[in-house]
Amino acid sequence: MSATDAAPEHRKVLILGSGPAGLTAALYGARANLEPLVLDGNQPGGQLTITTDVENYPGFPDGILGPELMEHMRNQAKRFGAEVRFEQATQVDLSERPFRVETDDGSVFLAEALIIASGAAARLLGLESEGRLMGYGVSTCATCDGFFFRGKEVVVVGGGDSALEEATYLTKHATKVTVIHRRDELRGSKIMQERAMANDKIEWLWDSVVTEVLGTREDGVHGVGIRNTRTDALSEYATQGVFVAIGHIPNTSLFVDKIALDAKGYVDLEGPGTATNVAGVFAAGDVADV
Ligand code: NAP
Repeated sequence: MSATDAAPEHRKVLILGSGPAGLTAALYGARANLEPLVLDGNQPGGQLTITTDVENYPGFPDGILGPELMEHMRNQAKRFGAEVRFEQATQVDLSERPFRVETDDGSVFLAEALIIASGAAARLLGLESEGRLMGYGVSTCATCDGFFFRGKEVVVVGGGDSALEEATYLTKHATKVTVIHRRDELRGSKIMQERAMANDKIEWLWDSVVTEVLGTREDGVHGVGIRNTRTDALSEYATQGVFVAIGHIPNTSLFVDKIALDAKGYVDLEGPGTATNVAGVFAAGDVADV
């Protein structure tokens, strides 16, 4: 059935995305008797489902696995009547209320209020080995995973503030942190550069890109392949952890020209709350938080 054939389903509140922001909105919406419907999106549970142990979420003194935490949040929202469907919005029309949302499943929803909680995705290098070893020595979140590299040597890929912040944070745990940057000049702010440069646990590998992450899921990471961007020389660099910090991409492609986005593509909120520039459309979580 095509989206145009489907009879529209009316909803008071439709929530796009099922990470912590979407499911928190669902929990509160359900308890306000708004019978919210959550559309999972392409990554049910969001970015936490691609991490392993979550040790920094309040209320779980012994830590919890990311997917398990998200399962708890999902069940908690459902307990009060929120509905969650494994569908992804593919078209939105926000020009009048109720808003119209079409999904990959051919469903059409008419929603009085729309909550965008579609999150962001870490920008990745795009290497096969990076994907295979994600969570097994490769990470995109130093505050989540840095602890596991206590006493080890790690690399951080990137030259912006994220990379500098991750590198500085990782020196709390790792014995050595090498920043691998594709140029010989950092993009990050002066103050972050100065802080990182002054840290004697941080080393620098300039004009270098990572061509491969070396290791296995069983034994973890033992190094990275490097290509020098000036000479094209190939080499290997020993390391036990790889943190990719080359930016994030907000999941807002559906909303271009429909709500206000900032220069980086994040939802531009009106004031300190969650309202967007379109009355009845709200945003929460990483999609609106650079
Ligand atoms: P960013 O400023 O866009 O920097 C991304 C870095 O990754 C750049 O150095 C870029 O290299 C490099 N890069 C991008 N794609 C790459 C690829 N495919 N291979 C290798 N390297 C690649 O992103 P960000 O560092 O995440 O920062 C985003 C925004 O958040 C910035 O405005 C930043 O100031 C802000 N932020 C602030 C703080 C803070 O103040 N505490 C912390 C984090 C982020 P090039 O330089 O060659 O382009």
